[in-house]
Amino acid sequence: MAFELPELTYAHDALEPHIDAKTMEIHHGKHHNAYTTNLNNAIAGTEHENVSIEDILSNISSHSPAVRNNGGGYYNHCLFWEILSPDGGGEPSGNLGESIISTFGSFEEFKNQFATAAATRFGSGWAWLCVCEGKLCICSTPNQDNPLMDGECRGTPILGLDVWEHAYYLNYQNRRPDYIAAFWNVVNWDVVAAKYDAAQ
Ligand code: MN
Repeated sequence: MAFELPELTYAHDALEPHIDAKTMEIHHGKHHNAYTTNLNNAIAGTEHENVSIEDILSNISSHSPAVRNNGGGYYNHCLFWEILSPDGGGEPSGNLGESIISTFGSFEEFKNQFATAAATRFGSGWAWLCVCEGKLCICSTPNQDNPLMDGECRGTPILGLDVWEHAYYLNYQNRRPDYIAAFWNVVNWDVVAAKYDAAQ
């Protein structure tokens, strides 16, 4: 079965002023849609046609660059839309909240380290909060790579931030740090906390 572009559960303008409607429209409707179409084209008629995206990504070194780039792009954006919400922001409670404090010292320190990973990713890529061998860790990956792929950053991603210019340039131009700071206002911590519990 072909991969499908997921529908957003909120309107394009719902994340304003933090993420603008035009960016959401293009990012979801054009960029994510293209990754989805190109992934389907890359695996059509191959033995990977009915394999889950997680299984494809975990064996990515056996795939073509087209599957790596578009499979990563498909998965990463699915996760990104899911962890955003117009009702987001605040801090996580429960297991995730406690683990963030015990791992990073405080929620503020966690945000600082994550923002540094996002800001210092040269060129295009992603910043991640992952579960790595049972522990929380922060890392970043280039292009559309992610921590499910075999690479130096390996784990189960529970929070991701797209730092490609297409994710912020219309509203923030070259001010990536402002986009990163605004991101915290639209993170749905309930979704991230559920992913953390599931990854334990
Ligand atoms: Mn993107």
